[in-house]
This record gives sequence, C-alpha cells and structure tokens, in this order.
Amino acid sequence: MNKVAYKSDYIYYDGKLQKNKYLIINNKIVESLSDTSEGCEIIEFSNSCIFPGFINTHTHLPMVYFRGLADDLPLMEWLQKHIWPAESKWLSDEFCFHSAQLAAIEMIKSGTVCACDMYFHSESIGTALINAGVKGILGGGVLDFPTKIANNADEYIEKAAELLLKFKENDDINIALAPHAPYTVGPESFKKCIDFSNKHDVLIHTHLSESTWEIAEITKKYGKSPALLMDETGMFDAKTIFAHCVHLSDEEIKIMGEKNVNVSHCITSNLKLANGFAPIKKLMDAGANISIGTDGAASNNNLDMVSEISMSAKVNKALSEDPTFMDAETALKCATENGAKALYLDKMGSLKSGNYADFFVLSFDSAHMTPVYNPVSHLIYSASSSDISHTYVNGKCLMENGKILTLNEDEVKKNARKWADKIKNN
Ligand SMILES: [Zn+2]
Repeated sequence: MNKVAYKSDYIYYDGKLQKNKYLIINNKIVESLSDTSEGCEIIEFSNSCIFPGFINTHTHLPMVYFRGLADDLPLMEWLQKHIWPAESKWLSDEFCFHSAQLAAIEMIKSGTVCACDMYFHSESIGTALINAGVKGILGGGVLDFPTKIANNADEYIEKAAELLLKFKENDDINIALAPHAPYTVGPESFKKCIDFSNKHDVLIHTHLSESTWEIAEITKKYGKSPALLMDETGMFDAKTIFAHCVHLSDEEIKIMGEKNVNVSHCITSNLKLANGFAPIKKLMDAGANISIGTDGAASNNNLDMVSEISMSAKVNKALSEDPTFMDAETALKCATENGAKALYLDKMGSLKSGNYADFFVLSFDSAHMTPVYNPVSHLIYSASSSDISHTYVNGKCLMENGKILTLNEDEVKKNARKWADKIKNN
C-alpha cells in the first residue's frame, strides 16, 4: 500500500486536537501528522474529525444474540434463570461465529477497533473478528464447574492454551484467560490462572465486586470481601483487568490504586441491573487505571462505546457532585489510551507516530452536531454512533459512509433473525 494522507477539519493526534493537518499513514502504521501531503494518496473527509478508535475493555460479544431476551431483573435471577440456561442450550461454534459477526458490525459502526472479550467457543469468535477486520483479546472462559466445554479449571485452562497456539501467528488477536468471577471460580483456580499468565505472558480478565449479592456470598464463604480475596491470591499483582468494581471499601480502593489495577468501568450494565455505582473518582484519584467496557449486549443492551462514554461522563459528574470530573477529554482517554494500557496493547489507543492506524471519522453534518466549537465535546455529549461515517483498522477501511465493507451486513442480520426464531420457539 502507498502512503496515504488523511485530511479532516480536525485530527485528535497524540492526545491533542489539531487543525488543518494531514494524518500520514504508511501501510498499517501512523507515520506522522504533517502540513503536507506530498508523495501521498489523499483521502479527504469534509466537516469532520478523525479520532483514535475506541477500545472496549469488557464484553461478551456473542451475547448480542440474547439482546432483549430477559430484562428488568436482578443480576443473579437474570443470570441463573435466563442467561445461563440459554447459554447452556444454544452455545456452539456456529452460534458464536454468527453472533460475533453481528457484534463486530456493531463495533465497527460505533468506532470500536478492539474488544476484550470473555466467552466460550473463542476460536469461532476470533475467526469472525478477523473476517470483520477488528482486533480482539479472546478470553478463554474458566469455571470451577463442568459445562459442555470442560469439567474443571485445569481443563478450561488447557482449552485456553490451545487457543493461544491457534492464534499465535495473528497480530490482531490476543488471548487472555477469563476466570468468570470470585463466586464461580475459587482462589486455587485463580492461582492456576496467574501461573498460566506468568508462563505465557497473557492477560487475565475477570468480573469483580459487581453486586451486593457477590459481596455477601464471598464474605460468607471466605471471611473476606471479593477484592481482598483477589489481593490475597495475587491477582492485583498480575497482568489483570477487572470488570465492574462497583462495591469497594476505601481500604480496597487504596490497595487497588497503589497497585495501579486495571478497571473496566461498565456503567450502563451496572445501571440496568441496578448493581450500583462504581467509585470511579476515588479509584482514579487513588491511581487505578480506568477504561470503559460495554459488558455483554444482554445487560446493556448494545456495544455502543459512544453512548457508554457519554453516560459515564455524566453519571460520574453527578455522583462526585463535581461537574469538572470526567471531562470530555478524560472520558475519551478512558475509552482509548487507558483501554490500550489496561490490555497491554503497545502501539494502540492513540494516533501517534509508530502506532497502528486504528481510527474513526466523526461527521458534523447532522443538526444535533451543528455548530462545532469543540469536536471532543461533541463526541462525548452530542454524538450518537450514527455520526461515525468511517472506521479504519491497521489503515484498512472497514466502514465507508456507514457501509460495512468487510462483511455482508444484510446476511449477518438475516442469520441473527434465524437464530432468534429458534431461541424464541423453544
Ligand atoms: Zn461481564
């Protein structure tokens, strides 16, 4: 591929808004921000801003097929009576491949270039993401009880080792271990995950302190809270990311801050399941790294990072009684740079020399985006994902003027409806 100079009214380059410049991409990589387009093919976007692509740090991509299947319920009832039975009945390689394609389209349409996933049949999910052109961290699920996949933690970890081998050659797919949560995985199994992570240098992705039910259950079983249990097992000192982190004491926040723990903040899921409000300001002030996750589409009910960061910015202001907290720039950083840091992804999370050319174009053509004083403000407070016109990963265009180029969107939606008919009629 020749060098390409992308021109837009604004470019959010290396954490700063720049005007009247060219973003120079050489093959997959950002070369520079330049005043000139000499020697380059020029691609110009009018009335718009180029932003680094979003990184969704917690999701369960295939759950898009369970979107709207069961709502308005408490977490444990929702999981035990609806989601887990549906998963045990329907999950297969085919189900996860088809559903991950739908999820990938949703990601591309909302400017998301990479997702940190936790599910089963991850090989099929990986194949779907590769076909779509997006990047992923595939979290091989680990549980202490048997499912169709495996019988115990050792066997689940073995499956993850196979996954690691399968995607070894692919730079866009990384593998993680995904022990589900302290209430489904015991400390000994978490320790096995840490050993595996140390040996193979892979991320561990888990849920933590999501609900008051979890706090009570773990405290009853182990005599300490889930966060203190995680600290004791060594999880806060390992290569880890924790989704939710809603119910934390000041002591736990202090420990997590001191250890710069990676947190995936999933505000919409927490709101919808009425799990409470994560102490984001306290965690951030203490030193934790806050990134943004949508969680699965059955508890959100979408994978839209634009609405997620907007919600997070506004709710965290109200919660902290401080309108200056989670300002637009900080919200954007959480959804990009902090996400890359949390997932240990070098060369991602911002547009700067040497990083991958992963970006989206935000159009200011709609009435609700007019006029423009500050493009970052518009992205966080005015935009919806339909204002994103183009998405690029590794310099490759995955969506052009709202049209997905890598997958057949109509076919993918048709498949989703077919699966839903089966699920409904059962
Ligand atoms: Zn989750």
